Amino acid sequence: MENNILVVLPHPDDESFGASGTLAKRVHEGARVTYACLTLGEMGRNMGNPPFASRITLPAVRKLELAESCRSIGIQDVRMLGFHDKTIEFEPHEVLDGKIKSLIQELKPSLIITFYPGYSVHPDHDATGAAVIRTVRKMPEEKRPVVHCIAFSKNHEQYIGKPDVVNDVSDYIEQKINSIKAHRSQFMDILGEHEQSQDEMIKRFGKETFWTYRFDS
Ligand SMILES: [Zn+2]
Repeated sequence: MENNILVVLPHPDDESFGASGTLAKRVHEGARVTYACLTLGEMGRNMGNPPFASRITLPAVRKLELAESCRSIGIQDVRMLGFHDKTIEFEPHEVLDGKIKSLIQELKPSLIITFYPGYSVHPDHDATGAAVIRTVRKMPEEKRPVVHCIAFSKNHEQYIGKPDVVNDVSDYIEQKINSIKAHRSQFMDILGEHEQSQDEMIKRFGKETFWTYRFDS
């Protein structure tokens, strides 16, 4: 079982749907988790929503939301890397990859969780996953951490097949819901008006899937 896990995702809230249950489970089993969040998601507003944050205050709001989400999950170490939202694909590779490389050297993770480049919908997601893959690929094969990718683009299974990692996180549904709820500037409506039953929540959020990245193909 992996004991040092590094999560590399671009936006505060990327952790919630795809990985929070898995991370809560791993923390419970004794893992140490570092979440490297590339941006503050400061562009995450549309049509005046959320009403309680302006363009100026949103970064501070999202920082607090991220801290709350990580507390709910049990993540011990959060690094905000300070890149700008919606610009990851334009960052020079040496800067982006250099940050990831130094985190890997410092933390020596046995597992990295990131987005599957090309199958993760948002350009920031794809660019983040691509940077992780480039960086890990350059490491000697025997030193590479396992990389688990999150994918959710349309028809992704046509190209990358079924996920090889399927985690039942129903015992950690409370942590997951609290992580989602922490990001209230983004997900005000997503959980619905009425409180859903535990069973509904487990049906909706109780499984998390990952693709182990294959460096040989
Ligand atoms: Zn995102």
